[in-house]
Amino acid sequence: MVTTRPLNHDETEALAAARLVALQHAPYLATALFAMRPVAAEGLGTFGVDGAWRLYLDPATLSEWGAEHAGGVLLHEAGHLVRDHSGRVRALGSRVDRERWGLATDAAINDDLIEAGIPLPGSPVTPGALGLPDGGIEEAYYHALTPPEGEEEDQAIPEPEDGYGCGSGAGDKPAPWELGLDDDAAPGLDSGQVEIVLHRVAHDVVNHIEAKGRGSVPAGFERWASRALTAPALPWTKVLAGMVRHIAALTTGRVTYSYSRPGRRRIPGIVMPAMRAPRPRVSVVVDTSGSMSEGDLAAALAEVQGVLKAVGGTVRVLTCDAATGDVQTIRNADSIRLTGGGGTDMRVGIAAAEADRERPDAVVVMTDGYTPWPQRPTRARLVVVVIGNTTQADVPAWARVLSVPASD
Ligand SMILES: [Zn+2]
Repeated sequence: MVTTRPLNHDETEALAAARLVALQHAPYLATALFAMRPVAAEGLGTFGVDGAWRLYLDPATLSEWGAEHAGGVLLHEAGHLVRDHSGRVRALGSRVDRERWGLATDAAINDDLIEAGIPLPGSPVTPGALGLPDGGIEEAYYHALTPPEGEEEDQAIPEPEDGYGCGSGAGDKPAPWELGLDDDAAPGLDSGQVEIVLHRVAHDVVNHIEAKGRGSVPAGFERWASRALTAPALPWTKVLAGMVRHIAALTTGRVTYSYSRPGRRRIPGIVMPAMRAPRPRVSVVVDTSGSMSEGDLAAALAEVQGVLKAVGGTVRVLTCDAATGDVQTIRNADSIRLTGGGGTDMRVGIAAAEADRERPDAVVVMTDGYTPWPQRPTRARLVVVVIGNTTQADVPAWARVLSVPASD
């Protein structure tokens, strides 16, 4: 049984001491550490977070761990919130195994904390303990922990004792003791406040790295911050919706309009039909030739992330210089393995994308434009995103051309 109540005076002091330890280790997370709303959760036996940034802490555990270890756990919980584990779990689909996601996210966070020399109580979940390489991202760990279809589950995977892991703020199912979103006694953060906190933290991380140098912030937080500050430049939902209409004209019956779920655009008094189209199958070819600068690649990955968000599932990615790598199915742009560095021929990547067994509706090429193009129109719609090249390259007239600046 877990019961929640406000923290008393002594508990507030103990939390402040733990927070001070956390701040000494990771000053760039200050805004997040102060934004978490503490709630005493007697009987919880650990700390956890919910989607409204409430921090549930068992007062008995807090005093047992002491400031040093509790400070490490505060950073662990802040890590779940900052790295948006509750949002990212949704991208894994409705059949996601949340316990496995909990292990994947715990391993990714603890890996970073241990690397930074931050002490944690007990025997924390680490990539090594799960048989995974260090330095990976959450989604990659999740998939590595998922047994192939039809195969026995690996019995060696430990399960969290109470079945709720670090709470809904970590992407777990909401635990029964979590407070309602608009609980008056302990109000949480709304989505606008969360966005402000995250933006501030991302800037603090980047500034800390600028002041103290590379390696002063664990890799996972650095990756998160640079991604958080690089928004895609293109409106991918619109771009791809236009594409679905085009496909519908060719193959009837693939798009249906439904009045059962209202569309997001509201006109007073009129319910707009929601577009219930099959998700367009999108393959992305990322130019990894030698002429693509780091800023070009960062911009390309930001656009891939935009495509992913618009598609709402997975995207097939090929890296291509003058030859192409394996097709990668990705759910997060950070998990793309970028290989290449040679000459440039996007025709090779486009041909490989079209030959894929999951035939794409659209092939999106992210390139600086210094490449030959196919002579004849492709079967899939070709979208060319020209990065950091104002002269617009020699893209064929039948392809759709969009351009974005390179990232700084
Ligand atoms: Zn956790």
